[in-house]
Amino acid sequence: MEAEALFRQQCTTAINEDGSANAQRLMDLVVETYRLQAGKKRDAEDRSELLNRQNGELKSALAITTGDLAEQKRLFEIVLDNLPNGLSVFDSEQRLIVCNIRFLQLFGFTADDIPPRVSMASLIAKIRGTERSETKASRLPNAAANGHIRHREWNMDDGRTIRSVITVLPDGSNISVHADITEDRKAAERIAYLAHHDPLTGLPNRIRLRECIDTALAGRKPDEHIALVHLNLDRFKSINNMLGVSAGDKILRQVAERIRMSAGAGNVLARLGSDEFAILQSGRQQPWNVTALAEQIRRELSEPFFRGDKAVELSVSMGIAISPQDGAETDVLLKHAGVALSHAKSGGGNSEHFFTAEMEAQIEARIALEADLRKAIEREEFELHYQPLYDFSQQRICGFEALVRWNHPTRGKVPPMEFIPLAEEVGLVVDIGRWVLRRACRDAAQWPDDIKVAVNVSAIQFTNSDLPSDVAAALTAAGLPAGRMEVEITESVLMENLDEALPVLHSLKQSGIRIAMDDFGTGYSSLSYLRRFPFDKIKIDKSFVNGIVENKEAFAIMRAIILLGDALGMRVTVEGVETAEQMALLEREACDEIQGYHISPPRPAIDVPCLIAQSAGQTSAKAS
Ligand code: C2E
Ligand code: CA
Ligand code: CA
Repeated sequence: MEAEALFRQQCTTAINEDGSANAQRLMDLVVETYRLQAGKKRDAEDRSELLNRQNGELKSALAITTGDLAEQKRLFEIVLDNLPNGLSVFDSEQRLIVCNIRFLQLFGFTADDIPPRVSMASLIAKIRGTERSETKASRLPNAAANGHIRHREWNMDDGRTIRSVITVLPDGSNISVHADITEDRKAAERIAYLAHHDPLTGLPNRIRLRECIDTALAGRKPDEHIALVHLNLDRFKSINNMLGVSAGDKILRQVAERIRMSAGAGNVLARLGSDEFAILQSGRQQPWNVTALAEQIRRELSEPFFRGDKAVELSVSMGIAISPQDGAETDVLLKHAGVALSHAKSGGGNSEHFFTAEMEAQIEARIALEADLRKAIEREEFELHYQPLYDFSQQRICGFEALVRWNHPTRGKVPPMEFIPLAEEVGLVVDIGRWVLRRACRDAAQWPDDIKVAVNVSAIQFTNSDLPSDVAAALTAAGLPAGRMEVEITESVLMENLDEALPVLHSLKQSGIRIAMDDFGTGYSSLSYLRRFPFDKIKIDKSFVNGIVENKEAFAIMRAIILLGDALGMRVTVEGVETAEQMALLEREACDEIQGYHISPPRPAIDVPCLIAQSAGQTSAKAS
């Protein structure tokens, strides 16, 4: 500190040749201000390092000082010009009395630009000539003990940003430190950009969308409506699986571009997640504007996307909520658009739904059902019922299909069609499926050796669990040979993830388990999937049985499917047989097996021995 005090004194003398009374105080402030501002910019460690270095420089400078004023002035200038930032001192008349080289460099001034006591106004005019715009940053009143500090930013023509920290003294003179903050600013801008944008598409992200909704709702005029469209691509996961993630990303970019073109510049388009987008549309003409927008998007996305020579077809589901009627707050509007989207999805996708209050009630009911479903396994609320499979060649029951039942303490018996799709959606079907496998094997182990058990397996069990090892564990635990088990899958298993499902199916088949294609004929392309895997059996869906006795066309279709199965060497089971006439007709048509209420509805496990005994009794009665 002693050295610093001495330095100040020396400096004062050096520039005091004009006798200015202000000089002493100004020099104090140069040093003080520089220290203060350097301290503001750096953290404590950097600051003390800087001060130490400066003190060191000062000490060595002063050590060789001889008292020669000219020499001292030279030293002072060396110190000034070696400061890492620009420094300028203007007197109370706003005329420059001290500056360093860095100051000149930062603002691009030449020596000619700086005649003695040049005015601040003329320097600013020069800067303005090369400056794009000037941004006055925050004013910090009384930040310094004997004055106040102002911040100012200069956006230079060459793209640099210079920040000035100006300490204004009570008499109007000021001392400023100037720094090039271009890199800091760019980094900060990049961070801010990344925090608010999706890197894949460059679209605003969820955070930014929320901000835009906040702003739109806050500025909404009484007769204005704000529509929020929540979009989700249908079955995009299977496209990703089919083409790979990087091709999937490219398609997503194209999707974003097509939606962006439909949305137009006046609306905000954001990407919320993998295949989820949202559009914020303001306007008076709602719901007409948003309906037209949704139609436009649907049209744009219905054109195929190309990956090389592969054409990919996409469809989209949309949920729409309109403020103020569907919500005056951002959270509520977002939630309601999401609710409407879930509705569009659960209806099979490829549609748009406007939010209604009933939808919310249904969603709440679903959430409650899901919560109950999560507890159902540990509370042992599931039960298996068994429905017989009747074999024409043996004229008796040859196996049973296990069908899960949920006995809820207050809801009563919840049918599988109400909870299996939900369990699939939330992944709970993996645990339920594991329980079904174990229980079915355990029950079947009690039956005669020639009676099989068929178990339904969902697509999710192929992707989200190790199905072969779950099946093997269930068989081993029950001591049931693999040959007595049949696994029923629907085409969705192959449709959603063929590459992953095929090896699993082959591995199951190799272990001796039979594989059946369930609900044959109800899907999109059951026929093409028959070529992908050597199924042991096809189960013709019950919808094909209706009318086979009375209606020639229905009969012709049934006959054709039976012949097809036969030609492919697969057993054919017809489901949903409810009458003796249907049974007789199917027997004549060389169908292998039937299942349906005519033989028996699904019954609790305890009834199985009785069903088997009855069937055996009827067979022997027929034989004798
Ligand atoms: P599914 O595999 O096609 O099962 C046959 C369904 O048809 C059963 O309905 C059965 O009760 C019904 N059914 C049987 N015979 C007749 C008939 O003559 N006429 C009519 N109209 N219907 C008949 P359920 O038990 O309600 O099961 C419905 C669906 O739930 C099943 O269809 C299957 O897709 C699913 N499911 C049942 N249990 C399980 C399971 O353990 N795991 C999985 N993943 N899905 C299951
Ligand atoms: Ca089935
Ligand atoms: Ca079926």
